[in-house]
Amino acid sequence: MPPAHPFDDDKLREECGIFGVIGVNDAANFVALGLHALQHRGQEAGGIVVHHPEHGFNSARRFGYVRDNFTSASVMETLPGPIGIGHVRYSTAGNKGNTAIRDVQPFFGEFSMGGAAIAHNGNITNANTLRRELIERGSIFQSSSDSECIIHLMARSMGRSIPDRMEEALRKVEGAFSVVAMTRTKLVGVRDPLGVRPLVLGKLGDGWVLSSETCALDIIGAEFLREIEPGEMVVISEKDGVQSHFPFRPRKSRFCIFEHVYFSRPDSVLGGRSVYETREAIGRELAKEAPVEADLVCPVPDSGTPAAIGYSLQSGIPYAMGIIRNQYMGRTFIEPSEQIRNMGVRLKLNVNRALIRDKRVILVDDSVVRGTTSRKIKEMILDAGAKEVHFRIASPPTAWPCFYGVDTPQREKLLAATMSEEEMREHLQVDSLAFISLDGLYRAVGEANGRDPKQPQYCDACFSGEYPVRPADMLEQGFQMKAAE
Ligand code: SF4
Repeated sequence: MPPAHPFDDDKLREECGIFGVIGVNDAANFVALGLHALQHRGQEAGGIVVHHPEHGFNSARRFGYVRDNFTSASVMETLPGPIGIGHVRYSTAGNKGNTAIRDVQPFFGEFSMGGAAIAHNGNITNANTLRRELIERGSIFQSSSDSECIIHLMARSMGRSIPDRMEEALRKVEGAFSVVAMTRTKLVGVRDPLGVRPLVLGKLGDGWVLSSETCALDIIGAEFLREIEPGEMVVISEKDGVQSHFPFRPRKSRFCIFEHVYFSRPDSVLGGRSVYETREAIGRELAKEAPVEADLVCPVPDSGTPAAIGYSLQSGIPYAMGIIRNQYMGRTFIEPSEQIRNMGVRLKLNVNRALIRDKRVILVDDSVVRGTTSRKIKEMILDAGAKEVHFRIASPPTAWPCFYGVDTPQREKLLAATMSEEEMREHLQVDSLAFISLDGLYRAVGEANGRDPKQPQYCDACFSGEYPVRPADMLEQGFQMKAAE
């Protein structure tokens, strides 16, 4: 397993991307390409399961990047068939940082009516309770992944078809999840009742595609049809096309607002809006809320780029690439020695000295998590001769952990959990620091009147501390929710 790059420690990390296709020749190749486009959602490991009428179910699971594992003929030839699903992961539940290959999705289960494979993005917040109950009733778990709970719940269901069993299993599950699953003849997609995690439907010739994001439809030339609705289950077959069910009690949707800020790729479309345009709008809001006199607006690449462009357009302050990212410095870099680790951010980002010298610089970043990277970037900018450094952050202070499928440090490690904005400014030693307000962020994602405090339109728990799904397992482990105001 390649070691995490030190730079990666200071970002929230989306932990999974899912993809599925039915009704095409060589589904595995399309799944591999789709997963490659979703690689930003998880780089630790990936897996593909396919089914072929003669060769049955086959699977491959590997650590590392899709491009390093699912391109060779020797692997892809073992994955024949017209239907397949795949998954890329960082680690959610399961052996975080110490993953066994048995934790890598998709998972497979053999039922009386045939086999099924399943992969999910998100987190089951009552997984510990379910697991305990299932083990007490005789289930034998092979992995520490939440998806396996769904397989065991399906095994115990009396449903007459696999989709029926899945429906029954998912009614027992709490949390934020999008699921892709397959049987011998069907592709299934489900979003949790609040629709916290994304899932979209596309068309590819006579076939159909499910994907975490639209960017993965583009790479295979599929047409984007629509998002799967919150609480919707689609069952797709070559014979009957797409059949839609709503197995859960209807609830008001609470999509993850951080997908707009950071997780999704800027070339994806979310809720009918281009992610890039939303990020640019965030930058414009930020410029209105937190103006400052300066000579240059520079993004912390790459995720701060659209917001920096928006800030520059709104403020009239010129935009410049003051920091250049080394595109080839991934997690697969040589095993870092202590000396190389200490170089930290410099391995990945370099300051464009000629631009920065003697300038008052506004740096736009997507978020501040622990603050370690922000501090190092500020030092690099000052070393390069900047006169002033002003941080503008395209999300509100991240003060609460996410329990819905995103890797966040424990609450006490989040800078905003223990410091006021002024204390954070002093800690980072910058001339000024400002975060977009929660209302400003809502306006930028298209809610003209900002956040509805009685019924927030999105999940924003990592900023507000208001969790739309009770994090049952975490409460059992002693997590303290925000006191009611
Ligand atoms: S807590 Fe934050 S990161 Fe997690 S789902 Fe909600 S908005 Fe997204």
